[in-house]
Amino acid sequence: MIDRDQFFIGGTWVDPVGDAGTIDVVDPSTEQVCGRIRSGSAADVDAAVAAARRAFDGDGTPGSGWAATPLDDRLALLGALADALDERADELGTLIATELGMPAMLARMIQAGMPIANVRAQIDLARQVQWETTVGNSLVVREPVGVVAAITPWNYPLHQVMCKVAPALAAGCTVVLKPSEVAPLSAWVLAEAIEAAGFPAGVFNLVGGTGPVVGEAMAVHPDVDMVSFTGSTRAGTRVAELAAATVKRVALELGGKSANIILDDADLDRCVPPGVTMGCYLNSGQTCTALTRMLVPRHLQDRVVELAAAAADGVQVGPALEPGTQLGPLVSAAQRDRVRGYINAGIDAGARLVAGGPDAPDGLDTGFFVRPTVFADVTTDMTIANEEIFGPVLVIMPYDTVDEAVAIANSTPTACRVGCSRLIPNGPWPWPDACAPAAWTSTAAASTSSLRSAATSSPASVARMACGASRSSARSSPCSCPA
Ligand code: NAD
Repeated sequence: MIDRDQFFIGGTWVDPVGDAGTIDVVDPSTEQVCGRIRSGSAADVDAAVAAARRAFDGDGTPGSGWAATPLDDRLALLGALADALDERADELGTLIATELGMPAMLARMIQAGMPIANVRAQIDLARQVQWETTVGNSLVVREPVGVVAAITPWNYPLHQVMCKVAPALAAGCTVVLKPSEVAPLSAWVLAEAIEAAGFPAGVFNLVGGTGPVVGEAMAVHPDVDMVSFTGSTRAGTRVAELAAATVKRVALELGGKSANIILDDADLDRCVPPGVTMGCYLNSGQTCTALTRMLVPRHLQDRVVELAAAAADGVQVGPALEPGTQLGPLVSAAQRDRVRGYINAGIDAGARLVAGGPDAPDGLDTGFFVRPTVFADVTTDMTIANEEIFGPVLVIMPYDTVDEAVAIANSTPTACRVGCSRLIPNGPWPWPDACAPAAWTSTAAASTSSLRSAATSSPASVARMACGASRSSARSSPCSCPA
């Protein structure tokens, strides 16, 4: 059992100011408590923000403070951070597999590997930024925003943290982080790695606790210049409302309901099974970019259903640390019950259940497990077609024309990406040729012309189009999820 009873503020480990109690971290594979953190209060946020402010501004002498630290020096420290995390990658993989429930091998690769790669990618990107640009007779200078409050979810706990912390630190901002209280433990390893890398005191600060107490104290704080929030649409809306009173910048990355459009020349045998297991079920479906709606030409639905049901039935469900497990439990009892509620709602609405269902998988009565589930004949008026389920539940929706498929893809309030599968021989993707995603695009951005152009592009131009789509969406939409 891991006990984290201090916060990292101003470069040292400190006791919480008050006694707001503790929060248990539960291993979803076993239902046993595997860790504990202290619950912070507004007073802890005050201390962390003050430390971040001092670190940003320096002591008042020119050139002091993180914002004024030369870019090369900041990036050298980020490189040291990546190295420090790399040394602990196996530990991080196991830790996140335990608190989250993702199978250990995948957790090592994705939950530990991806954030480390993100830090290194940010170093490269920061070197490409034009920090100063001359426009006519004006000089445009890009400056760090200031103190950034980062509030993150549990589904990719370290990845979501690093997607905020690494670019903020590279740009010269200082950070106060509140990780999700559901899967918080990797954030403490990150703080230790930041300490080991030798960052100046106060550049990064960590406070644990709940959203309504610590998260809201960060959102309203007058000395926070920007809130970067990733999580549910409900909590994001609240953060935006609270932050408005002090006119700070707010970045929101919210829920998803992404579509995977199968065109009628796709090789179904090769694009449907990975569309189910990797596209939809990765991390037990708890992925904001999960391709949870598979849109299929109506005349192909029967074959798609057969393949999708077989793929779902073939998934090995089990505890995260058990070798051979392909799909772990959901993160919590609440999440499991919520997902089972959606499965029951689908059945009640008349959708055709072709795999899985609301009961626990055989032999897995302990742990927050849900059977890999597939519904067919799902229509746009059903709740399961519109709301984010955040579990291993795929809905198959038939369409008659590509225009209709695009309209369905764009009909939900949120989507993190849209996938489109068709035949691309020798595509540039690490996928089998025929299941290459011909177009990845983002929030409500699917268009018939983008699908048609994907259908006629060479693999190289398709790759460029996909990159362009994700870059522009990162600027214009509330969601800038990585693939
Ligand atoms: P959540 O909204 O419950 O919590 C996210 C974070 O917000 C947590 O740290 C939580 O403590 C905090 N929080 C909760 N209420 C708050 C409040 N009133 N004020 C301030 N902070 C508050 O979300 P979750 O259950 O942790 O994560 C799942 C959600 O995150 C899903 O909807 C998923 O789609 C979304 N998500 C989106 C992206 C993206 O890039 N768009 C990435 C990952 C997850």
